[in-house]
Amino acid sequence: MISGTTSVVGIIGDPVSHSRSPAIHNAAFRALDLDMVYVPLPVRAEGLSAAVQGLRALGMRGANVTIPHKGAVTPLVDWLDADARLADAVNTIVVDGGVLRGYNTDIVGVREAVLEAAGDDLAGSAALVLGAGGAARAAAVALARLGMEITIVNRTAAHAERLEQILLAAVPGVCCRRVGPDAVSPADVARHRLIVNATSLGMGGMSKVPPWMADTVIAEQIVFDLVYTETETDLIVRARDRGAIVIDGREMLVRQAAVAFELWTGRPAPLKVMQDAAT
Ligand code: NAP
Repeated sequence: MISGTTSVVGIIGDPVSHSRSPAIHNAAFRALDLDMVYVPLPVRAEGLSAAVQGLRALGMRGANVTIPHKGAVTPLVDWLDADARLADAVNTIVVDGGVLRGYNTDIVGVREAVLEAAGDDLAGSAALVLGAGGAARAAAVALARLGMEITIVNRTAAHAERLEQILLAAVPGVCCRRVGPDAVSPADVARHRLIVNATSLGMGGMSKVPPWMADTVIAEQIVFDLVYTETETDLIVRARDRGAIVIDGREMLVRQAAVAFELWTGRPAPLKVMQDAAT
């Protein structure tokens, strides 16, 4: 029941109508009987600054930030946590006594999803990350911190180069290389223990991931698709058919949401409730 004391959080993005985050957080608030509500906040780029300042003006507890605003929000908050500073991206804002604090919970989200599915013996093995945008930054940093070698494959070389710089700053001495999509061979894919799609490919209205990624996966490899759709993505279906261990993007969604929930409420997140609400 929403009352005069209900604390409000929401999700700032464009679009936000497809987001599972309201369902996930509202289920968690109900499960813990918290007087809080989570609402969609569709915001165009030209209104972003006013919207972020509005969180404070309206006495809201905070917000998630999603595509395409995660980078643009960083200069608009008063304080950044170390991961948000590193990735130059904020996905969670906490309004703390009038101070706007920006966090990046995507990095922990990737880490927790991978540890749950693959265990903690990944150090020394290799990960191939397709993409070099915000999601790829979170994935590559999380995996490098787990001790993995990283291969970045991206269409735009300059973005891959920027990601390599971020990785070297996050994990000095990390083994990292960059390859163009046209130069990846099946043997190259096979030598990686973990394959991550961190591009928008596979989202509704976008092309599928390239065949070299979906059709060369071998049994026992781990395939993580950060993209999530209403049903399983084509990559997840094809990788499972080929015997791979698969991680659905919804698992990362829930894991990053759990960290945001704990920042807003100070309470442990009800993970199972949130997982059920995400599907
Ligand atoms: P972004 O910063 O805009 O990056 C997009 C990436 O996709 C870039 O590497 C871009 O390559 C690549 N790309 C786009 N179109 C492409 C095409 N036609 N061919 C090849 N590469 C293409 O977006 P993002 O924030 O990283 O998000 C990427 C995806 O991850 C989205 O689907 C998003 O929903 C998902 N995501 C999921 C979660 C979760 O919790 N599961 C969290 C965050 C994001 P260039 O550099 O060459 O442009």
